[in-house]
Order: sequence, then structure tokens, then C-alpha cells
Amino acid sequence: MSDAPIIRVEELSKTFSDGFKALVDVDLEIHRGEIFALLGPNGAGKTTLISVICGLVNASEGRVMVDGHDNVRDYRAARALIGLVPQELTNEAFTTVWDTVSFSRGLFGKPKNPGHIEKVLRSLTLWEKRNNRLLELSGGMKRRVLIAKALSHEPQVLFLDEPTAGVDVELRREMWEVVRGLRDQGVTIILTTHYIEEAEEMADRIGVIRRGELVLVEDKRALMRKLGNKELTLHLQQPL
Ligand code: ADP
Repeated sequence: MSDAPIIRVEELSKTFSDGFKALVDVDLEIHRGEIFALLGPNGAGKTTLISVICGLVNASEGRVMVDGHDNVRDYRAARALIGLVPQELTNEAFTTVWDTVSFSRGLFGKPKNPGHIEKVLRSLTLWEKRNNRLLELSGGMKRRVLIAKALSHEPQVLFLDEPTAGVDVELRREMWEVVRGLRDQGVTIILTTHYIEEAEEMADRIGVIRRGELVLVEDKRALMRKLGNKELTLHLQQPL
């Protein structure tokens, strides 16, 4: 396996059409097999950054390489390597689990391998529920269906946008276990969160983003040692 970063973000900026600078000169490398948490308050630019990395939103400046593929010029190759679990729960209430995961095109759809779908559903303990409609599932199961959908084309990198926003403590722990399990299967994970304790619990490395600037990227343990540092705590807690 190559040591080169699986994602390389180079001098990335995003200015929206209203002139708002949502990302300013972001440089970032994601290592293969790690769990990387992008931590910051609401409105900091977390969703914008992962949307640009995934190629859903165009950058104003800079570029993103996914395993050596430029995500604009070579977007098909780049996208095939990426899965994205959005914040919103699915509204396909009457569709079965199997159909949701195997037939809905998803963001980065390509032909699905039924054997792989079975493996994904089993690993997310959804196999027994494959013929259930989504409206019959618990909140935790619905979230796992979204993850299964994002994994259906066998990506190497999985982005999870605020995977535990608005869920209770028990479900949050369940999601943490699921994400760790995926990492153990070799998937590189990038998640966004505004919970310090979630980043602390989950991540190998943490990037702190504030007002569109990646203010630091650190190994989790090093960052936690610095949490006594008032300046950092302010970065994380101050609203925009
Ligand atoms: P986060 O995910 O950290 O909560 P976002 O990336 O969603 O933050 O948003 C960052 C900032 O960019 C916010 O101030 C938001 O209002 C702004 N923003 C997001 N999308 C647009 C858009 N299409 N046009 C203008 N501003 C936007």
C-alpha cells in the first residue's frame, strides 16, 4: 500500500457568489486508513470543505487530489474512490433496505455488485432487515442504511457529515462503533463534528476549522494535551 496521502487538498479557497469566503487557503493531507475529524463550530465551513473535496461544489482556487486523481479534471476516477454520508436522513420511506442500497444511484453511482451489497449489509447488521421498508426502521438503522448506500460502490474513503448531530447518547455510541468497524475494514474515514468529545473519541487526527480557515491539524493525543490552552478552547467554542 502506498504511503502517499489518499486525499491531498492544496491551497483551497471557496468564495460563494454573494462574496462570502467559506474556505480560505486550506491545505490538508488525509492518510490512508485513518479516522480524521474535522472539528469546528456551526458555520465554520466543514460541510463546504467536504463538499468541495467530494466534487459537489467547485473550488474558487486550489485543487483536490484523490489518490492522485484531480477531482475536477479526472472526476470520474476521483469520485469512484469516495463515498459521502450526508447529514439529512433519507426520505425514501417506502423503499426497502436492499433497494435503497443497491438501486438508488446515490451521489457517485456506478453499477453495484450484489455480493458487495450483501457484505456491506451484513457488516452493518442490516442483512436481516433487507426486505424491510425504511419507515419500519429505528433511527440508528436508518443511519446505517445511509452508510451502506455510501459504501455500495466500494469506495476507499468515506465522508460522514455530522454523523451524530441531533441523536441521543446511545445512538451516538452505536455510530462510533460502526465507524470504527469500517476503519478496521480498511476504509479511510473523514467526519465532521462540532462535538469535541466526538473528535476525541473517534479520531486519529483532528483538524480544527474556524471561519473557513484550518487553524490547526494535530494528532489527537497532542491536541487533547493542548485543550487546557485557552486560545484553542476559544477557537472551538466561540460562535462566528
Ligand atoms: P459548517 O458545516 O461548519 O456548519 P458550512 O460549510 O455549512 O459550515 O457553512 C459555512 C458558511 O458558508 C456558513 O456561514 C454558511 O452560511 C455559508 N454558506 C454555505 N453555503 C453557502 C452558499 N451557497 N452561499 C453563500 N454562503 C454559503
